[in-house]
Amino acid sequence: MTTRISHWIDGKLTPGTSGRSAPVHNPATGVVTGEVDLASVEELDAAVSSAAAAAVEWRRASLSRRSAVLFAFRELLHQRTPELAEVITSEHGKVLSDAAGEITRGLENVEFATGVPNLLKGGFSEQAATGVDVYNIRQPLGVVAGVTPFNFPAMVPLWMCANAIACGNAFILKPSEKDPSAALFLAQLWKEAGLPDGVFTVVHGDKVAVDAILDHPGIAAVSFVGSTPIAKHIYERGTANGKRVQALGGAKNHALVLPDADIDMAADAVVSAAYGSAGERCMALSVAVAVGDVAQPLVDAIAARLPKLTVGPGTDPDTDMGPLITAEHRDKVAGYIGAGQDAGASVVVDGREGDVPADGFFLGTTLLDHVTPEMTVYTDEIFGPVLSVVRVDTYEEGLELINSNPYANGTAIFTRDGGAARAFQFDVEVGMVGINVPIPVPVAYYSFGGWKDSLFGDTHMYGPEGISFYTRGKVVTQRWPDPATSSVDLGFPQTR
Ligand code: NAD
Repeated sequence: MTTRISHWIDGKLTPGTSGRSAPVHNPATGVVTGEVDLASVEELDAAVSSAAAAAVEWRRASLSRRSAVLFAFRELLHQRTPELAEVITSEHGKVLSDAAGEITRGLENVEFATGVPNLLKGGFSEQAATGVDVYNIRQPLGVVAGVTPFNFPAMVPLWMCANAIACGNAFILKPSEKDPSAALFLAQLWKEAGLPDGVFTVVHGDKVAVDAILDHPGIAAVSFVGSTPIAKHIYERGTANGKRVQALGGAKNHALVLPDADIDMAADAVVSAAYGSAGERCMALSVAVAVGDVAQPLVDAIAARLPKLTVGPGTDPDTDMGPLITAEHRDKVAGYIGAGQDAGASVVVDGREGDVPADGFFLGTTLLDHVTPEMTVYTDEIFGPVLSVVRVDTYEEGLELINSNPYANGTAIFTRDGGAARAFQFDVEVGMVGINVPIPVPVAYYSFGGWKDSLFGDTHMYGPEGISFYTRGKVVTQRWPDPATSSVDLGFPQTR
């Protein structure tokens, strides 16, 4: 018995009419549990029409009304976190506590957006010229869209929609077709929170729907999170069509472990960040760069921790790591382990031989040592439970390695030397940096984003940059002169 997963247009479930759909699996069993509708260009058009009509009204809603809806949504999301976590785990596979964790991080973005009356306050300059005042306001863009990846089916949509809606836009979400149900759960909560129909829309689909979003003249801006090749496509096609685009891509995040680091603390942190969510996080640490004689003790400490991790269904409270998203992805990740081995890396722990359930898309944890920069396990984003150790002689060599990588999402340094950490923070060419913090995802009142091939566009996501992305500025110059003083003056306006 499979569930049909339909669009959410005009505040209600709207079955697709394209005749195209895709299977949705439970990755812990391998069983098909749902069939998601894939939208046609015409269905996307209908969604945009509904959103455009809603946007006209929603931008007129007072800031306090918008804030009230966000507060109500925040409460509902908080209360129903366990239910939503189950929805996420059933289609993504991550353990329930991790699913609840992503909702909590998403909730922080809603909490930030409840402050919209303060966030949209402009500046005011009285008497900029004699009798003239100048002030600025920020206005919504209209209809904006978000295209999101499978790995955070609730958090990433919440990075986008909370601020977009708070700023007075209508938001169309095109979630990953691999785990689409969390988006509908959010839609239902928005409705219960009192958001007018059409302000939050879900259109399911694949490339057809995404390209229709990029081409639609009624959509002013697109936020994207996903892999680098698709991020580049989104940025190029969206901006060529005159849209504002922020497109976050893939990652290869390095942990730089200095010789003075506390080995056990560094090993705990690296294992947590490399294998949590089966390595399917854009901020996962996938490379440990071991400096000098820290290498062998670090490899030993990581290897000692891996047999203690339980791989199994995310619904089992004893499980540390769930399955991968699809069978194809599991096989691709396993292929990288073989490629690393063939290229000369030492397979210290082999996930292909791990103690994992037979059904479902499981793979054990893998630790590769003596990885070198030309191996595909180093050059490619694997997005699975595989950690590569690269040994370097000096801090400078480690820094150079990180700065040479085309990806630049996150990185972390492990040391007890404040001076080294300060130098690293200053010199490393990466967007998000952790100092003894393995997954430095910024809190909601900062903004999230990498550099280089990890982000296309100028604006990072959520936080203050999210507010500026979803609004455009207007500057008003006003005077209220005595009509008796009025005269024609063809000179250029002066302020003195
Ligand atoms: P993906 O790029 O395959 O898909 C992302 C979205 O793009 C999905 O909604 C998908 O339907 C759509 N899409 C896929 N192919 C497309 C195409 N040819 N044309 C138009 N749209 C297309 O990514 P994924 O596998 O869902 O997610 C994993 C990737 O996302 C990893 O690379 C990961 O690093 C990245 N990611 C990055 C961040 C970040 O903040 N930088 C966060 C999470 C995930």
